[in-house]
Amino acid sequence: MSLPGAPLKRLLAFLLAQDTGPRRREGFSISTLGICLAKQLFTLSGYPATTKRAARMLLLWRLGMLIEREVIALMQMAGETILGLQKEYLGANPPREGHIDGLILRDGKLYVFDVKSANSQSFKKWVQTAGLSPWKVMKDGYGACDPRQIAVKTYRPVKEIYPSYYFQAQGYLELLRTREEYQEYIITALAQVDADLAQSAKDGTVPVATDGFYFFVYCKDDSSLYEEFVPYDADAIEQRLAFAAKGYQAIQGKKPGKALTEEIRTYRELKLNEDGGLPWQCKRCDFTKTCWGSGTGTPDKNGEDDIG
Ligand code: SF4
Repeated sequence: MSLPGAPLKRLLAFLLAQDTGPRRREGFSISTLGICLAKQLFTLSGYPATTKRAARMLLLWRLGMLIEREVIALMQMAGETILGLQKEYLGANPPREGHIDGLILRDGKLYVFDVKSANSQSFKKWVQTAGLSPWKVMKDGYGACDPRQIAVKTYRPVKEIYPSYYFQAQGYLELLRTREEYQEYIITALAQVDADLAQSAKDGTVPVATDGFYFFVYCKDDSSLYEEFVPYDADAIEQRLAFAAKGYQAIQGKKPGKALTEEIRTYRELKLNEDGGLPWQCKRCDFTKTCWGSGTGTPDKNGEDDIG
């Protein structure tokens, strides 16, 4: 007879066994283009992870993927046209790869559609509401779509709150706008849902290149929703790519070791908290000890963010 709790232990053991740590890549992941460059350089250089991932984190990532699928399915049921485009996108200088959640067709134009899930602590950073209903929807321009349900006090844009997500979506836009093969791929996908529009795109009368992205956040604690339209920012993404390319060049041909660690540390984009503690991003990083040395950092009084 199994003891109480045995199924849970089995589930956790299975989850942890599935986790093989950070995947070794030849280039950058576009989804992490905006995170601390040092972390990406440690991964690219083949440094082993110094922290183990908790089963809770693995479960949160899985939940994030489920929520993303649910939001896209609901959008499609609501009548939106979203092209799934489950394809790997590749770029050069620096080499990079990634997947787009989807492209949404709005008024004859295509926009990158990106879904995130967040706990209420993270969600609060975007928007603070009077909270009359658990179902709060911010529409374009952040006006209330139903004044009886929503009372928006303030909002802060993703660029300010989570630059990493801002650069992720800008990175996809840059690829779609500049790489011809992706334009052709999109036209083919578009033809499945709107032949006329696909033809116009082919003729060059409808832009396939996207002008911006829809950023959509689902709060896991109370199902609040947030939507933001962010225009393409060519300067910002060009600067980010140039910085990443510089770091990439710096690690070429070098093996993990003291000299390379010092080199990579110069690309750290996070600082210790005022009390000497590690910021939450570093506590979750795979390279905390390599980066800061063991024994660094005291518990982060600000608590952790949880977003996937
Ligand atoms: S520990 Fe922090 S500063 Fe160091 S690589 Fe990781 S995220 Fe960057």
